[in-house]
Amino acid sequence: MPAALLDGKQLAQTMQAEIAAEAASWAKTHGIPPGLAAVLVGEDPASRIYVRNKRKACQQAGLESWLYDLPQHTTEPELLKLIERLNHDQAVHGILVQLPLPAQIHEAAIISAVAPLKDVDGFGPENLGLLTAGHPRYLPCTPHGIQQLLLRNGIQIDGAHVVIVGRSNIVGKPLALILMQKAAGANATVSVCHSRTRNIGSLTRQADIVVMAIGQAQFLKADMVRPGAVVVDVGMNRLADGKLVGDVDFEAVGQVASAITPVPGGVGPMTITMLLYNTVRAARLQMDNASSIGNEERGLETD
Ligand code: NAP
Repeated sequence: MPAALLDGKQLAQTMQAEIAAEAASWAKTHGIPPGLAAVLVGEDPASRIYVRNKRKACQQAGLESWLYDLPQHTTEPELLKLIERLNHDQAVHGILVQLPLPAQIHEAAIISAVAPLKDVDGFGPENLGLLTAGHPRYLPCTPHGIQQLLLRNGIQIDGAHVVIVGRSNIVGKPLALILMQKAAGANATVSVCHSRTRNIGSLTRQADIVVMAIGQAQFLKADMVRPGAVVVDVGMNRLADGKLVGDVDFEAVGQVASAITPVPGGVGPMTITMLLYNTVRAARLQMDNASSIGNEERGLETD
């Protein structure tokens, strides 16, 4: 295959070792490690695997992690009460609420309830607002991982035309915001496609970098990619035979692209890595800058 492989698994190992060193040094100064509270509601098997992998990565990097494993019938007020408690717990620096939540709970209400300084997923309105305004605090993990995967493989984002297919709040939309920042490692010209976009191939063929995030198995074909373009595949789709594939026809597109991410082993491991990164950053922001950050912003009681 002519395309170079963008190996997220290997980069994740390298970055997790860097994060572990930072976490150890921070823990030495403060007497406690950076800590992540993971909240899981219900029995969704994929969510259980994601949370298990995230907690395992925390443990390996020397971060504390707690699991709040709640039943499927948990009510919104019950979950809000837990979030409130975690917001005020000084050992908890980051809060991860695994999505999706059961239908009786409004995701937006829960996401908004997480204290902004503990919102290590970066999904809350304050952190998304800061990103939109060009002053990011925590970057959402999957898009941040994609940016790192490109940069650390020497792929130029500055001035590139990036075409993102998918406009979800957790991948496509924040990725567009990250890559169009007026900042080093960004400065891209970004086009975003979605289910109402006409003739997606005519747009992806113009891209220097194509990012697929739609959840449709092997949607991107070789004739939709300009020879030499870089292709990032966020999709994770389970075929009838149990095989896990991305949104890209990997073998065929690998013949025309200059670089491509595999599925699995591409974007997935980077998502977990950036969660650890944000948790260490959250510990720093809450403890090291405590005197310069208002209690309210720290998620601590103000009375
Ligand atoms: P999502 O919330 O379901 O959003 C899908 C997006 O794709 C929507 O914007 C939708 O358009 C668009 N779309 C769907 N079908 C399309 C089509 N045929 N043509 C053009 N656009 C289409 O998905 P998501 O949460 O962003 O996840 C996308 C994929 O990435 C999934 O496979 C998911 O499992 C995977 N994922 C992987 C990671 C990781 O760490 N590796 C993290 C997150 C997600 P509309 O907005 O018009 O509906």
